[in-house]
Amino acid sequence: MSFESLLNTLLPPDFFSHPSVQRLQRLLQQHIGDAPITHVPLGLFPELAGRLDSLAIKRDDLLHPEISGNKWRKLKYNLLMAAYLGHDTLYSFGGAYSNHIAALAAAGALFGFKTVGFIRGEAYESLNPTLQRATEHGMALHYLTRQQYRQRSDTVFLQQLAEDFPSGYWIPEGGSNALAWLGCAELAGEIPEGYDAWCVPCGTAGTLAGLLLGCRMPVAIWGVAVHTDVQGLIQAVQRCLAEQGVSMAAYHMAGDYHFGGYAKFSTVLQQFCQSFTAKTQIPIEPVYSGKMLYGIFDLLQRRQSPIKGRHLLLVHTGGLQGLEGLRQRGLWV
Ligand SMILES: *Cc1c(COP(=O)(O)O)cnc(C)c1O
Repeated sequence: MSFESLLNTLLPPDFFSHPSVQRLQRLLQQHIGDAPITHVPLGLFPELAGRLDSLAIKRDDLLHPEISGNKWRKLKYNLLMAAYLGHDTLYSFGGAYSNHIAALAAAGALFGFKTVGFIRGEAYESLNPTLQRATEHGMALHYLTRQQYRQRSDTVFLQQLAEDFPSGYWIPEGGSNALAWLGCAELAGEIPEGYDAWCVPCGTAGTLAGLLLGCRMPVAIWGVAVHTDVQGLIQAVQRCLAEQGVSMAAYHMAGDYHFGGYAKFSTVLQQFCQSFTAKTQIPIEPVYSGKMLYGIFDLLQRRQSPIKGRHLLLVHTGGLQGLEGLRQRGLWV
C-alpha cells in the first residue's frame, strides 16, 4: 500500500490545506531533525563474521534530544490532527518512566499545546527524572491507581475521565493509534533500497505495523518482543493489516528475548548494551533497543539463522531518557 493511500484513508481531504496544520508543520520542520543511517563496521563484531554483508542503524534517536524516536513518529500526525481539530490541550497515559510521556511533554512545550499526563501508580514524594522533566515542560500530572489504569482504553472510563477535564485531544498510551501508523509508515519511506531485512523492537507493535504499511520494497521485517505477550503483538499487527486491507506482509516476531518481561533485564543484557555502545559509540538502553540488538545478534549466530537477509537495517527507536531513571534507582551504571 502506498503512503498516499494511507494518508487518504486516515486524514480528511482538507487536512494539509488547513492553516493550523500548515503552521504546525512549519514549526515541526524547524525543530525535528533527520534520522541519518549509521553504518556499523562488521569488523567490530567478530561473532557475526560471515553472517552478514552489512549492518546499518536508522538513528531515530537523533530526531530531537527530548522528543525521541518512535514516540515522535507516533505523535506527529496526532499533533497535526489536534491542530486541525482546534484543540490546545493533549491528554495521554503512561507509566512513571514512559518515553511517550517524556516526548509528549517536550512536544507540547515546543509546539504550543498544554499537556496532561495520566500516570500509572501513586504520586511519589520526589519526582523521578522522567516526571520531573515532564513537569518542567508544563505537563500536569494526574495519578491513576493500577485498577483505574487498567481501564485506560475503556470507552466508558475515558468518557467519565474526560468529563472532569476541559475538552482536548486524547492520545492512547504509547501514542499507539491509527495516526501513529502513519508516522511510522513515513519512517519506512525514508529507508533507501538495498536492505533486505529491517528490525525493530516491539512494545505494542504499532511501530512494526506502521513500517509494514509504509514499506514499498520486498523486505522482511523482524520485530523483537520486549515483553512476554508475543501472541498479543502478533494479533495487534494482524488487526492493523486487516483494518488497512493489507493481505500480504512479510514479518517475523522474535519472542525469546524479553528477559523475563517488560523492562526486566539481566547483567548479560546490561553488559551486551555497554559493550555495543563502547564499540560503536551508539547509545542504547536495555528496555527496547538493547533487547532488539541482543535478539538479532543471537538469531544471526544460530547455526541456521532464520534471518535470511545479508544487509540488515535496525531501527533505533530512541528511548534513551529511560536510562536516567534506571541510574537513579541504581539499576544501571
Ligand atoms: C515505545 C517504544 C517502543 C515500542 O514501540 P511499539 O510501537 O509500542 O511497539 C520501542 N522502542 C522505544 C524506545 C520505545 O519507547
